Amino acid sequence: MGFRVHFPTHAELSARLREIAERHPKIVSLEVVGRSHQGREIWLVTLTDRSAGAPEDKPALYMDGNIHAEELTAGAAVVHFIEHMTSAFATDADVQSLLRRRTFYLIPMADPDGANVVHTSPHPWCGNGVFTPPLVPERGLYYLDVDNDGYILFMRRPDPDGEWKISGRDTRVMVPREPDERGGTYYRLYPEGRIAQWDGGAVTIPQPQDGNLNRNFPADWDPDEYGGSAAPIIEPEARAIVETILARPNIGAALACHTHSGVLLSPESPSEAPVPFEDRALYDALNQMGERLTSWPAISVLKEFTAPGVRRRHGVFDDWAYNHRGLISYTIELWDPYREAGIPASERKHFHPLTEEQQLKLLLWNDTVLEGDGFVDWKPSDHPELGRVEIGGWKYIQVFRNCPTEEYLRADVERVRRFAVGVAETLPEVHVQSTGARQVAADLFIVEAVVANRGFCPTGVTVVGQKRGEPLRVELALADGMALLMGDEKQTIGPIAGRVERPLPWNPWVRQWTPDAARVEWLVRAPKGGALTVHVHGGRAGRVKTTISLSQSKGA
Ligand SMILES: [Zn+2]
Repeated sequence: MGFRVHFPTHAELSARLREIAERHPKIVSLEVVGRSHQGREIWLVTLTDRSAGAPEDKPALYMDGNIHAEELTAGAAVVHFIEHMTSAFATDADVQSLLRRRTFYLIPMADPDGANVVHTSPHPWCGNGVFTPPLVPERGLYYLDVDNDGYILFMRRPDPDGEWKISGRDTRVMVPREPDERGGTYYRLYPEGRIAQWDGGAVTIPQPQDGNLNRNFPADWDPDEYGGSAAPIIEPEARAIVETILARPNIGAALACHTHSGVLLSPESPSEAPVPFEDRALYDALNQMGERLTSWPAISVLKEFTAPGVRRRHGVFDDWAYNHRGLISYTIELWDPYREAGIPASERKHFHPLTEEQQLKLLLWNDTVLEGDGFVDWKPSDHPELGRVEIGGWKYIQVFRNCPTEEYLRADVERVRRFAVGVAETLPEVHVQSTGARQVAADLFIVEAVVANRGFCPTGVTVVGQKRGEPLRVELALADGMALLMGDEKQTIGPIAGRVERPLPWNPWVRQWTPDAARVEWLVRAPKGGALTVHVHGGRAGRVKTTISLSQSKGA
């Protein structure tokens, strides 16, 4: 199995997207929705079959990737979605049907500056190009490739007060010293780096100042958050995402691709209000669907994906998308290296240390599947500040933050594609179920239309979405010589329920159903044989129109 995946640079991605857009003009359009801090294009791909309707007339799903610099695998998932859809469109009836009915808005590289740092340096990197590596603090340890081997790993330094010791089963493995243990050889572990202004006392490690675009969104934003920046959406990359979504009211779902862990994270709606019952039911159903389509567990970001003792996150995209816009919103964490090493999700807790047994399993996986290339064995080094240390450990960005092989990458990006298609299928979709025109006098007609929802989700998608999305509107367009005598030419209807609210057969003891269709009626004076048009503007549920002929009797 070949180790190392080539992830496209921004320049390579730009060329690839232009080529795809040129080759598939019927279904792809490419535009720049913003520029990174250093001026790189933030590309948006719009994917839909334009011969079956304009992009803005269809229910839509938004997906981005690589907003965190080193998560190149997340960007690859979005690129894969574009490549798969465009290449399958010619022959695959499911893809053809999907692109007739849905629009996809896709940003494959949300943080091009940061990706460039990861492509051109060994630095672990989160944010954009406001800062550039190395980030030398006034005082304390900062990341640096001290031994110049191309990787920033770990340093182990003997210290009688240390909390680590070398495993008796594999000298590469560091295990915690027991609470009551004494008399052995112990170590401290530090990230590989230099120490600014060290006075020989404590080795302090300040938080890196590389930024974090996924803390810059206008949802419960906090200036004290790691990487939150000076103000919400002050970073051009986060702003471009917010503006892209606000400008497209047909978007009903937003997926943000990240790494790593192999989980589907639902937002927790933290401070504003607990998740309403209706949305809980929706998320429960989508979580089950997601687990079926990806084999990744769907978990809560706050309850199951936050380190113990750490406060919840602020300024995060998925909270903005769900809490403020009322979109279906998921953070998808691709890539579960632990499962591949034989440590299933049930045997570990996120943000808890791995046991010795689990570390040995990971190293066995490295030695066999990765042919030993994922881990650098500890080597003595003379450190400018600390003196004699050993440097070694996992190639963390290549092995954990990203899929280390093409085979793993192919499997994971397919999981994301299946989930994105699944979520898109659940979106609300208005249609005119029936129409009628009944002649009540020589030139008088009662005209009616029944509007319904084909979707699993209600027309507003969520409870907040009902309020923040565009309402359902019906508009009657009369032909020349016609007059409207009763009924409103433009009226707001709905919301109309989705299938999600009917998980059980009707029963007086459970939650009662809300209307799953809306009937609209007008009295029109018109010559017989004419025709008029009913337009339905469904917001997130799409737009449709239908023509009613005044010669017909009441339709079914
Ligand atoms: Zn991330």
